[in-house]
Amino acid sequence: MRERIVELEGSLVAELETATPQEILGWACSRFDRICVAGSFGKDSVTLLHMLRDIKPVIDVVYLNTGFDFPETLTFIEELKREWGLNIKEYRPLLSVEEQEGRYGPDLYKTNPELCCGIRKVEPMARALKGYEAWITGLRRDETEFRKHIRVVEVQNGVVKINPLAGWTEDEVWSYIRSQGVPYSPLYDEGYRSLGCWPCTLAGSWGRFERVGRWAGTSKEGGECGIHVGDAYREVRAILQDDDGNGSKGPDSHG
Ligand code: SF4
Repeated sequence: MRERIVELEGSLVAELETATPQEILGWACSRFDRICVAGSFGKDSVTLLHMLRDIKPVIDVVYLNTGFDFPETLTFIEELKREWGLNIKEYRPLLSVEEQEGRYGPDLYKTNPELCCGIRKVEPMARALKGYEAWITGLRRDETEFRKHIRVVEVQNGVVKINPLAGWTEDEVWSYIRSQGVPYSPLYDEGYRSLGCWPCTLAGSWGRFERVGRWAGTSKEGGECGIHVGDAYREVRAILQDDDGNGSKGPDSHG
């Protein structure tokens, strides 16, 4: 059905490819009632949240608390929530960090980062998106090879995905943040270019792509957690259900 929406509005969707992020957000927020924005609270995320303050001040901000966020990130989220009155919807994995360690051993992020991301990011995001028609993300084409083919409007697993910053560069994001006085995570001033969980994020500016410090030294180096990749959700659900019989917690459990 969602594919049909995009198909019916094909000409408009094509026009959006050259629209400004604010125009894209304006279209998305008027087109979809049940819409949310992904809140990673990195530079792209705060850029979108800042723009949305003028466009749709009350919007659900979906935040995945993996249990591995930098302490600086948690503090920054609290500060921004207070300052901007954000309506944050927090989701957590079905397994706590301790339960994950008990089941798969310590440092799953090293031994099997694909599974760790599946449990701590992919499954909770799929659960979080239930009931929404559309979600807004901070993906940009210049972040990685994988992302260079993204479009402004896509459909993934039946939910419309809006990428207003698809055409912006890293420099354009920073230019917006500086010119508009947007608050940003202090970790950037310590040399990080792309922020994720602390075990899988290195500071440094080597390499062409800004995500090169993510999962450095593993099979996922510079890659994707899986949230934006096809049907990773189904795979991780299958693993979790296989491992505990019928799944100890329902797929709709929050927080
Ligand atoms: S980024 Fe690392 S710690 Fe975070 S969920 Fe993925 S593998 Fe686990």
